[in-house]
Amino acid sequence: MSEQTAIRDTVILGSGCSGLTAAIYAARSNLKPLVLEGHEPGGQLSMTTLVENFPGWPEGIQGPQLIDNMKDQATRFGAEIKMGHLSGIDLTKTPFELNLGKEVVQTRTLIIASGASARWLNLPSEQALIGYGVSSCATCDGFFASGKEIAVIGGGDSAMEEALFLTRFASKVTLINRSENFRASKIMLERAQTHPQIKFMNNTIVEEVLGVEEKDVRGLKLMDRKTGERSEIEVKFMFLGIGHEPNAKAFAGELDLDADGYIKTDRNVFTTRMGVPLPGVYACGDIQDRRYRQAITAAGTGCMAALEVEKYLEELGR
Ligand code: NAP
Repeated sequence: MSEQTAIRDTVILGSGCSGLTAAIYAARSNLKPLVLEGHEPGGQLSMTTLVENFPGWPEGIQGPQLIDNMKDQATRFGAEIKMGHLSGIDLTKTPFELNLGKEVVQTRTLIIASGASARWLNLPSEQALIGYGVSSCATCDGFFASGKEIAVIGGGDSAMEEALFLTRFASKVTLINRSENFRASKIMLERAQTHPQIKFMNNTIVEEVLGVEEKDVRGLKLMDRKTGERSEIEVKFMFLGIGHEPNAKAFAGELDLDADGYIKTDRNVFTTRMGVPLPGVYACGDIQDRRYRQAITAAGTGCMAALEVEKYLEELGR
């Protein structure tokens, strides 16, 4: 039996930059928000190193430190942060019901800030070697690739950015793009294409990451999609730069999502259900933003969501 607790004014799903900003604002409005941390506590910032473009930190700040600061700031004003995995949600009745397995949480408003996670190729060999030479975070793991030959997978701006960044460490970067064309912007593509340490392979897919038995990446098995020809390259690291997946599966059927699974929002943070606004439910950060995806924009929409919660509760007479 799930335990039921007192009705909350607001619950925030996600403890990344967006969710914690919403928590700071909601806590300062005395709403005692409950922040539920999912499987990636702190979100993408907690997996990066130096953040140099967050205003107010002229020398930059480490991503995990920035998140810790935000947590301290939110809890100082009364936010409660705890682990919680959503196993079910009902947004058809008010208060809204969140099923956390052992506990059902009822809340008058909901801020969804569960972000987006790095996409993987989903090959068994790749999954077995995550942390052993397979990484989705160049800024976190680039240093370990020092002096080594490595591969970056993808053909968008993320892949170009990672490849360029990794030339600081790696002796050679092979960029493997499954298509003939690139999604990357012209400027980023040109920068990568003209870099002497970066070699391009187009129309190529990774079939297997070699090194599972040794628990250490030693190469990639590749296939040319045009000719069907198979080959192997020796690399010590494989970095994924193939985009992100919004963490919105739990809301399918409850809220309107776009074709790629991002929560559709109107006026920045308002959600809809079958095209009709759903009062009291707001989405912020990367779960609804496929365009800017910056820490500062995530913080901005987190703030907006909390201000809308405040207004909505006021209208309810709270
Ligand atoms: P993206 O533009 O969606 O590109 C994803 C790339 O990964 C595509 O080349 C895609 O190939 C490939 N891909 C996807 N799934 C794959 C798979 N299973 N196997 C192999 N390849 C796969 O994603 P993104 O590069 O993360 O960029 C997302 C947004 O953020 C863009 O708007 C981008 O401009 C922006 N961004 C900007 C910067 C910057 O300006 N500094 C940096 C990073 C990101 P296909 O083309 O074949 O589908």
